[in-house]
Amino acid sequence: MNICKCFQCDTCGTKIDCRIGMSNRDIQPFQFACPQCEERISFVFGQSDGELFGATDVVDFEGPFNGTNPFVDLHLDFPAHFGKYVMGMTTFLRVTREIGHDSYQHLNQRLNTLNILYPMQNDLRSVITQYKRGDIDNFQKTCSKIPGVSLTSRKKEDVLAALYTATSVMSSPFTIHEHNSEISSKASDLMMWLHQHHNEKTIAFIDEILGNGFLKNLHNDCLSLYPKLIAMDLPFRSAFFYDYANTEELGKIPARISTADFDVCSNYYKDLTEVFSRQLNFLAGLNNLIKRGDSNLFEPSLKLTKAQKVRLELKNLNSFANVDLGNKLAFIDECFYRIDMNAIDNKLRNGIAHYKYEYKESTQLITYYPGKEGMSRDKYYEISFMDFMRKSLLLFREVHGINHIMKATLFYCVLILKKEI
Ligand SMILES: [Zn+2]
Repeated sequence: MNICKCFQCDTCGTKIDCRIGMSNRDIQPFQFACPQCEERISFVFGQSDGELFGATDVVDFEGPFNGTNPFVDLHLDFPAHFGKYVMGMTTFLRVTREIGHDSYQHLNQRLNTLNILYPMQNDLRSVITQYKRGDIDNFQKTCSKIPGVSLTSRKKEDVLAALYTATSVMSSPFTIHEHNSEISSKASDLMMWLHQHHNEKTIAFIDEILGNGFLKNLHNDCLSLYPKLIAMDLPFRSAFFYDYANTEELGKIPARISTADFDVCSNYYKDLTEVFSRQLNFLAGLNNLIKRGDSNLFEPSLKLTKAQKVRLELKNLNSFANVDLGNKLAFIDECFYRIDMNAIDNKLRNGIAHYKYEYKESTQLITYYPGKEGMSRDKYYEISFMDFMRKSLLLFREVHGINHIMKATLFYCVLILKKEI
């Protein structure tokens, strides 16, 4: 169903024609910027008060839209296009035509799962909080509130199993199921292979990352990203579409996210890159073990720069941890785990982390300045908000994928090495 409305901006008085496509989410908060003055206009469907901010509803307008006013297409579940009003060519129709019926059914199933999960976000957050606190009584209580999650005993392996069922529930609409199960089984095989082939050094690696708290801290920080993901279901929903559509189109056709604020989302991307960067230390350690039988041994040719100087940062895994994210990947030779490079954008990360970006809400275009240019801002890059959310989604999948390897490592510690984690 679609609703057509005409709003008058409270700031500049511009009338804006607006077509709103309805989704199945019970509460539907929309947001867009006035194309004339950039002021934010927002309203909510599904709540009894349905407040409208930033504009006034022109109740006596007569449809159909005739092209005199700027036009805004909105839909929470799909990318809405910027452009001219075409009667009948709704976002829903365009999307279903583009990806076909079967893909649409699959996409719709994921959106419906999100509709069930987002009202549970407090319970989902509690599960993670209580696990991190080590409060098993409360952990058990909160687990029982989530369908499919239960704690069968207080053994560490059962606590871990319940925890990972909870994160798997939370991440299910955001990730690719087949990919998850493949990594999960390969990661356990890998830990057993290492245990058999490089026993002493594998145990030394585990002792190091348990002893200095690295594994626990990384695991906890990684876990905190899951409830935040659910809390951000609104801006992520429309990025799912590109799992089915030709992603090359992304960036060519300006597509609108009909809700949420870039600033909220930029913090999440920053958190993701931070956790991912630390996960790379863990991957590098495992990769060194697999390739050279010692987590501290980096590939010999990488240890020297082109000018034949010694790279001190590759002395061991501990010194590698201080390398910038942008350079880390190059020092992990032929990583056993394939990283999706589309998810990584270090320039974007730097632009956001150093608060050197501008966001134009009416066109949803992010301009960022990653370089160190003294006081000036000359060299810039641009990315659409939609493309940015897509990158965030892909990066979450990377973090989630490596979390599967961490899971296998934690189970290895508990079940095989009988160590406290
Ligand atoms: Zn305005």
